[in-house]
Amino acid sequence: MKKLDELKEWRRTHYSIEITPELDGKRVTVFGWLASIREQGGITFLILHDKEGAVQITMHKDKIPRSVLEKVKNIREHSSIGIRGIVKSIDKAPHGAEIIPEEMCILGIAQRQPPFSLFGGKMASIDKRLDIRVLDLRRPKAQAIFRIRHTVLKSIREFLIKKGYIEVSTPKIIATATEGGAALFPILYYDKEAFLAQSPQLYKEQLVIPFEKVFEIGPIFRAEESRTLRHLSEIVSIDVEEAFVSYEDIMRLIEQMIYHTVKEVRERCSSEMEFLGHELPVPKVPFKNFTYKDVLEILEKEGTTVNWGDDLSTQSLKVLGKIIPEFYFITDWPTFMKPFYIKPKGDKQDICESFDFMHGSIELASGGSRVSSKRLLVKRLKEQGLEPKLFRYHLRVFDYGMPPHAGFGLGLERLMMVLTWQENIREVTIFPRDRSRLTP
Ligand code: ATP
Ligand code: MG
Repeated sequence: MKKLDELKEWRRTHYSIEITPELDGKRVTVFGWLASIREQGGITFLILHDKEGAVQITMHKDKIPRSVLEKVKNIREHSSIGIRGIVKSIDKAPHGAEIIPEEMCILGIAQRQPPFSLFGGKMASIDKRLDIRVLDLRRPKAQAIFRIRHTVLKSIREFLIKKGYIEVSTPKIIATATEGGAALFPILYYDKEAFLAQSPQLYKEQLVIPFEKVFEIGPIFRAEESRTLRHLSEIVSIDVEEAFVSYEDIMRLIEQMIYHTVKEVRERCSSEMEFLGHELPVPKVPFKNFTYKDVLEILEKEGTTVNWGDDLSTQSLKVLGKIIPEFYFITDWPTFMKPFYIKPKGDKQDICESFDFMHGSIELASGGSRVSSKRLLVKRLKEQGLEPKLFRYHLRVFDYGMPPHAGFGLGLERLMMVLTWQENIREVTIFPRDRSRLTP
């Protein structure tokens, strides 16, 4: 194996996209990964990729120091290198300039070539790509997706903070199920059984007492038995809870938050969007609103019968998605279909103040007004077959002036699927976890 160079005093002066004609004649140092080596009529062209893009390194055999030529002879694509050289303005190169190298250091040798093509060619299967995900993430489309994700998270944080919500973090190791046990991962906590949190629901509700308006962006865990294109076992949930408001206020908040986020992505990620090859339209607000009952009627007209109280199957969601291919809400679900903490609606106790926030056939968020009376909460727990005793630490909080409150939980990955037109949730997750994948 060739000996590697040391970083020593080598430091980057510019990223690839900063190598422009204005720097003509200047000495620069760049770092990155060698994307290609090409020889043409006694000239060797290297394309170097860094996190910002690509830069061309051009070597005329007779004008380049021997030491550099020797290194180029031995190097392989995907090695990480540093180049120090002089910028030369030239129309044909990316960004109108290239680098004529004076020195080169080889910092990380690619011992083997990736098992699939990173730049163009046929896309390898998702499983093959996920097996060595960091290489897959160098694909320009993956880079675009995760830069958009970064912008989405930043925009949502900025939006909520500006609106006066405080960011909190709640435990992910918990003693009791939030909503009943089905989808929980049990873990060994010292000598006791504990669980990974499936939602920050109960904690965020409690936190409206000291903080009134809270949000959390953090992982949640669901033991989903079936492998689908929109379920993972670990996701990032964007949770909001607020005192003295109802589900209608929260729906307006989601509307503004999504509007703001899409606007930011359009402004800050135009090149990434262009790269993904789709236009991201500014959402029309207010979003349409259908009650659960409306939805059953719409589906019935389409020849898809869903009985009152049945979940909307993947098939019926598909039908709905074709009819409403945009952001919308489904409200006023049957009470027994929603968790115990959702507030029944006025005198119509069989439906509740709940909503699902949708885009086409995809559920993005669920939310609602919460039960704030301890007596009703105990009753609802029992109705859902849950043991109030297990919830005593939650219930006792309700003795201290629990205000009316409402909120939602939104899956970041689902939102990313919609914003980047991905059909498989794994494409928008850096290291996805599902029934059959626990590595890398
Ligand atoms: P679904 O019906 O799609 O399985 P859910 O109604 O069980 O979702 P909620 O408990 O309402 O999910 O969770 C709130 C949000 O968290 C969902 O709307 C969704 O965006 C996201 N979410 C929940 N579970 C998963 C999962 N396993 N994978 C990806 N996202 C999820
Ligand atoms: Mg839901």
